[in-house]
Parts: sequence; structure tokens; C-alpha cells
Amino acid sequence: MKWIDYSSPETLSEALGLLNSYQKDAGILAGGTDLIVKMRANRVNPTQVIDIKAIPELNQININSNNDLTIGSAIPCYKIYNNSEIMNLRPELKDSASIIGGTQIQGRASLGGNICNAAPSADSVPLLIALGTTCNVQSINGERTIPLENLFSGPGQTVLEPNELLISITIPKKSNLSGANYIRFIPRNEMDIAVVGTGVSVIISDDKKKFESVRVSLASVGPTPIFVDGIDKEISGQEINDESIRVVSNIAKNASKPISDMRGTAEFRQHLCEVLTRRALITSIERAKGE
Ligand SMILES: Cc1cc2nc3c(=O)[nH]c(=O)nc-3n(C[C@H](O)[C@H](O)[C@H](O)COP(=O)(O)OP(=O)(O)OC[C@H]3O[C@@H](n4cnc5c(N)ncnc54)[C@H](O)[C@@H]3O)c2cc1C
Repeated sequence: MKWIDYSSPETLSEALGLLNSYQKDAGILAGGTDLIVKMRANRVNPTQVIDIKAIPELNQININSNNDLTIGSAIPCYKIYNNSEIMNLRPELKDSASIIGGTQIQGRASLGGNICNAAPSADSVPLLIALGTTCNVQSINGERTIPLENLFSGPGQTVLEPNELLISITIPKKSNLSGANYIRFIPRNEMDIAVVGTGVSVIISDDKKKFESVRVSLASVGPTPIFVDGIDKEISGQEINDESIRVVSNIAKNASKPISDMRGTAEFRQHLCEVLTRRALITSIERAKGE
């Protein structure tokens, strides 16, 4: 049996100091619903587990005067969809926070852990990318901000340095006449890994007839979550109709780079990208119109 040290720092500076000392030998534990599973399977072998749940900065929810929403990285999912301020501002966050595992998992699992675990299938990530989320990161050397779509470098890999901690994420203020949605395809009704997931965010014109902006991000169809670039160039100013919706969903389909595995063939996944993007876009448009 291997000895593992455990600490639960109550200040950010203590946590950053520990992380800087142990670097790759540290295991950051938020909810532990990924970390502990990986430790049991010997996929990671930290000598020092740093429990970040007691650090105030990682448990804060802040809405600034501009209505940008900042969510601490260690906040569990259930506190997100049960928070009336968050749900008033960004009700779509429930789409993903309420489907990560079941009730027990949501009692522990954080968005920060879902992001930093860097699974291509992570359910919270596509919607957050579609919403233009940025990551607030800190080490003993200072702070930096990373757009979420630039955080991932491979399956299970991020661009975070070994001594860096994700402190919080910031979702920019909701535009007028905007809506967003996340949906996934899983073979069962719940508690499964997304075969494909699609996050969409849309802004429509004042007369509610044209697209102003559309952002799409995909899960489980590449080595990292995919931000589908270039949609606005094609769609901004276009009428909202079946044809323009089909254009968006085909751009998403063509941006996917799926593999075939036991959960679905590459061809099936590409088909799902088109179907799910179309459905999430239609829901986003309805939400933007207030329907
Ligand atoms: C039964 C079960 C069902 C699940 N269902 C789903 C599902 O439907 N959808 C889905 O997407 N996931 C699912 N998961 C995976 C997991 O629950 C989620 O990814 C969860 O959000 C991870 O959050 P956590 O707080 O538990 O992370 P942890 O396990 O604590 O951490 C995950 C990883 O991120 C790192 N990390 C955590 N916080 C930080 C930080 N602040 N800064 C830097 N690194 C950090 C950790 O070191 C670790 O490598 C499931 C897991 C289980 C066990």
C-alpha cells in the first residue's frame, strides 16, 4: 500500500504554496468524483492530495456591476442549479449541471473539476465555451486568464502548469435577445458518458428575425472539446429559417473529428453532431425569443 498525504488548506496562499512544492506529485481534489476514481485505477498516483473545498475564493459566486457571472471552481453542481441568482442570470447552466452523474455525484462534483479533468466528453464544457467563458487561474507566480476553448491540449490534458490552480470561471453578461442550450446523446436516460454533446449560444436581432451571432461547441467528437469556429461569418445577418439552421448544424458536423469506439461509429457521431446542433440551436432561438 502506498502512503498518501492529505491536506485541506483553508487559505489560497497555503494551497498555492503546497501545489508549488509538490507540482506533478500533487493531486487536486475538489469533489473527487474523477480524481478518486483515477487514483483507485492507478491512472494517477499523487503523493500529496490537496483538498480545495475549504478555500473561500474557490467557493464564491460573484455577479459584478456589468452582470458578468463568476463561479468558484470548487462549487458543486447542486449549488449552481439551486442558486436563484445564477438561475435568473444563466438558467441554461441547469442543462449541464443537472445531468452530471446523479444527485449524489452532483452533491460533490464541481464545474472546475469537470473542466480540469479535461475529458473530451465533459458535459459542462460545450455550453460554457459557447457562452464565452474564461478561466481565472493562479499560481504563486501570479494570475492569468485563459479562454475556456484554449484550455485543453489533449485527452485529460490542459495547458495549466503543474503549480497552477483554476480559481474560478467567468461567464460574460447575457446579451439582450440571447439564448443557450446544452444537450447530449446517451444510450441510457441518465448516468452515462455523452456519445455526442452540443452547446449552443445565440444572439438574435431586435425584430427577432435574424441571427446576430451563433457559438457552438461539441463534446466527444475529438481529442478535446471543440469550439466550432467561423459560424458567425456564414450566418450573421441571415434570416432565421430552416435553411440557415441547417447551415449552422452542417458547419458543426464538418468541424467534428470523431473516432469509432464501442459507444458509436465516427459516422454515427457526425450524424449526431448535425441533429443535436440543430435541436440545441432551435431551443436557443426559442429561449432568446422568450418563448
Ligand atoms: C458515477 C459517475 C457519474 C458521472 N457522470 C458524469 C456525467 O454525466 N458527465 C460528466 O461530464 N462527468 C461525469 N462524471 C465525472 C465527474 O463527476 C465530473 O467530471 C465532475 O464534474 C468532476 O468534478 P470534481 O469536483 O469531482 O473533480 P475532481 O475529481 O476533484 O477533480 C477532477 C480533476 O480536475 C483537477 N482539478 C479539480 N479542481 C481543480 C482546480 N480548481 N484547478 C486545477 N485542477 C483541478 C483534479 O486534480 C483532477 O485531475 C461522473 C463520475 C462518476 C463517478
